[in-house]
This record gives sequence, C-alpha cells and structure tokens, in this order.
Amino acid sequence: MLRLSGVCVSGGQAAGPVVRVAEPLPEPPSTPAVEDHAAEAARIGPAAEAVATGLFTRAAGVEGDAKAVLETTAAMAMDPSLSSRAEQLVRQRSLPAPRAVLEAAEEFAESLRATGGYLAERVRDIHDVRDRIIAELLGVLAPGVPTLTEPSVLLARDLAPADTADLDPDLVLALVTEEGGPTSHTAILARSLGIPAVVAVRGLLGDTTVVAAEVDGDSGAVALSTEPIEVRSPERRSGAEWTGTGGTSDGHRVKILANVGAAAEATTAVSRGAEGVGLFRTEFCYLAASDEPDVATQRAAYTEVLRPFAGRPVVVRTLDAGADKPLGFLNTAEEPNPALGVRGVRIAFDNPGVLDRQLEAIAAAADDSGAEVSVMAPMVATAEEAGWFTERARAAGIGRAGVMVEVPAAALAARELVEAVDFVSIGTNDLAQYVFAADRQLGALAELNDPWQPALLRLIELVGRAGTDTGRPVGVCGEAAADPLLARVLVGLGVSSLSMVATAVPAVGGALAASTHRQCARAAEAALAAPNPSRARAATREALE
Ligand code: PEP
Ligand code: MG
Repeated sequence: MLRLSGVCVSGGQAAGPVVRVAEPLPEPPSTPAVEDHAAEAARIGPAAEAVATGLFTRAAGVEGDAKAVLETTAAMAMDPSLSSRAEQLVRQRSLPAPRAVLEAAEEFAESLRATGGYLAERVRDIHDVRDRIIAELLGVLAPGVPTLTEPSVLLARDLAPADTADLDPDLVLALVTEEGGPTSHTAILARSLGIPAVVAVRGLLGDTTVVAAEVDGDSGAVALSTEPIEVRSPERRSGAEWTGTGGTSDGHRVKILANVGAAAEATTAVSRGAEGVGLFRTEFCYLAASDEPDVATQRAAYTEVLRPFAGRPVVVRTLDAGADKPLGFLNTAEEPNPALGVRGVRIAFDNPGVLDRQLEAIAAAADDSGAEVSVMAPMVATAEEAGWFTERARAAGIGRAGVMVEVPAAALAARELVEAVDFVSIGTNDLAQYVFAADRQLGALAELNDPWQPALLRLIELVGRAGTDTGRPVGVCGEAAADPLLARVLVGLGVSSLSMVATAVPAVGGALAASTHRQCARAAEAALAAPNPSRARAATREALE
C-alpha cells in the first residue's frame, strides 16, 4: 500500500477499485502546414456540433444543477465565434484544425482573464470545451470521467464542472485529486453529493499500476493498492431532515443563506431552500464591460437576481474588483502585489463615484424587486473604513449596511468594527489567504488555506464574540460555511448566519438541525484547542457524538 495524504474537503470513508479521469490531451502541433484550407476549416463546425449534441444528450438524462452545467457547456461548444475564429486561423496561418481550435480558445480564455480573473471557472469551461472539440477532431476519447460500470474511487488531476455534472453518487465511492484546494469545484461538488473527498494529494497519479484505493475524507489519508481491495461504500451522513428554517435542534436560530452571482443561481438557491442570500457577488455585472455600466444597466441586472427573493433578506456586496477579479477600467495602476493592492472597497476611497452609483442602482433594484436588501463592503481593514462605508450606504437610502471580515486586522479589531456597522460577514476564503500569507488559488498551499486551521478559527472566534457581546449579527459567507461539520463549529463560535453555494444548503441545514447549541459550543472549543486541521476535525466529531 502506498500511503499518501491531502486536504480533506468532504468527510466519510470508502474503498474500492480506482478509475482514472482521462488526462488532458497533448498540445496539438501547428505543423504540418495545411494545404486545403477550405476542407480543413470545414471540419471544425461539425466537430463542435457533435460535442454539443453529446452534452445536450447527457443533459436530457439528468435534472437540476447537472442539467444546467451540461447545457451551459454545450452552449459554449455551439458558440459560433469560437468556431469561426478557429476557421479563420486555419485559413490565415495554415494551421491544422486541432491547433486552430486550441489557439482560438486560448484567445477567448485570455480575454476572459483580462476582464475578470474571478471567472476562473469560465476559463476552465472554455478549456473543457476546447479539449472536447480537439478530441472529436482527432477521433480520440475526450478527456474526463469515463462511464462508470461499478462503484469506484475517482482519481483525477482536478475536475471540471462538466466532468462531474452527471456523476452518479451511487457509483462514485470517493473523489481524490492531485490538485485543487478547499474552494475548488471538486470540493464543492463532493460536499453537495455527500461523497468523501481529499484534494491536493501529492504523488497521486504517479503509479499507473494502482488498481484500488482506500480514502478517509475525515483525516485526508489515501492508501493506494496494486491489489484489489474490498469495496466499502461511504455511510451517507444526511443529518436531520431540513425543514427550511435554520437552527439547532434546541431552537437556536441560525439563518441558512446562499451565495449567488447571477439570476440562475438565485433561482437554484430558492429551490434548495435558502432562506435568503448572504452574499450576492455583483462583479458579474462589470466583468464583461469595458466601461463602467450605467446605473440603469446595473439596476436591471441586480433586479433580476433579487426578484426570486422578494420579501426575503439579501446581502448585496458592492464591487470587489482587483487581485483575482481585476477590472480593466478600474484596476489601471501596475501593482507589484495585487492581492495586497487597491482592491475591494479601497478602490472607492479615491473613486467614490463608482460606489455611489452602484449604491444608487442597488437601492432602486431593492424597490423594484421587493427583496429586503442590505449592502456589504469587501476588503475592509479598519473600523474607520467600515464607518465611512456605512455613511455612504445610508446616504444612498439603504438602511442596513455591513462589511466583510477578510483582512486579519479587521478581525483583530472586531469589537470596534461591529460597532461601526449593522452586521459583519466573515469571508473565510480571503481571511485564510491573508492570515497564512498563502495564495488561495494555489493547490500547493491548499493545506494552509484549509478553513479548519485553528489559527483561522481563533480569528473567527474574536469576531463571533464581538457579535455576541454587542448583539450584532456575524455571518460567514466563505466556503467554510458549506462544510456541514465546520458549520457547527462556526455556530459554536458565535456565528448567526451561514451563507454558501446553493447545493450545500440542505446538507448544512440538516446537519445543524441534528445538533444542540451546547454541542456546537463544545465542538468549537475542541476545534480551537487542536494543533492542526485534521485533529480539529476529529475533535469536533468526538464532541458532537
Ligand atoms: C471570501 O473571501 O471568503 C468571500 C466570500 O469572497 P470571495 O470569495 O468573493 O473573495
Ligand atoms: Mg473575498
């Protein structure tokens, strides 16, 4: 047995035969130069169409989120601008069709990155579509998950949304990836399906003679075997039935909310039973724009997202541009270290008009939609900044204003911070990256970005205590809130609302409803006292028994 370990992102144990997710195709060469341009270019359209048809067929066999993901990927394959740019490259540079598709897709990915790196998943989607079309042109098997015929442990470098959209949880015993981190697509998916998963496992794919694996999603241990081992299915931890009103079994109220970034996500969030929205990322409205969208455009876009939540609470985050979400028309200065640069609310200090126009649009969209809207600023570092934002929100006629706690200084000054606002919400994704000085997008640093790190939990405790002492709500809207086990620790630390990817809502709501408030407090104490994330998980589990 080869024993490895990684970062656990979804709990439970399983064992069984392994199936490898096909590796990406080698880069297609740009030679030999094509002679018959017309014939070569004519192969591209039908290949893209075949890929789209295959994805639409898969979409027809499933429902809900899986259907939406497959249909979105199929629509991207059908996008005529990708095919026509590739055809143009065949004609202009005599490139073979697979190479032309590669280069055309890269141009699209590059412009997406330039307008908004935040849409990293869209870049991943473009690469996915590109690889499928290239495989079709080459007549080889597309990269991705092969059709499973028996319960299996999936081993992959990383997973794309379309790879996993129609995964059958009865056939997938566990997911293990060599890359990816606590906020990766694999992590989110595994949690929503209740499949044990470990990510960032170094050396996972090195030995091709491995035929079976044992996975412990609670400790991060992965054992690889060259001999078959007995199949063990994960125990489904469904928790209590989710009734739609968040709280512990003894009636301590905790709002279970969703994170959304577009109208379709808001509709999904309602269908999953979210009580409201704890984080509406408004960047989507700006990302595709080369100039600031005017108030009317913003108003219409926000209204669409807010409408499904008429009569319910929605926290709208003002523009979080910069670093992983750069905007061409705002982040103009060259910065040696953009993550520590003029990003989030900092942009508004020198350019308050952008914030004021956005607040005006949000206030109008609140009226149009009937949602109970609050606003929240990202990347706030001091209580003074928080006060400045609150005043501007009030001046725009928005009655409730809060800030995100993503910068360690804000957590350390929690008391003064919460007193300057109506509520705070902890962004554990950024808080982890700043407190550990570890880029949240780097798989190599995934362990430091594990939200179970006791040092991170101690900062959350400071904020939770400030909230409890002052009676002001403290939410968590980073990925940490989507982990049903960690959610209970967060409640024990004083958190009064949890906001997460919509698919995690029932699991987190159900898990919380299965524990008492006292158990959550004991779990929090145990996790805080642990020396590392895996011991924190184990101690929490014990405290909840
Ligand atoms: C966070 O940082 O935890 C957060 C929720 O914000 P984002 O992921 O959009 O940076
Ligand atoms: Mg953030």
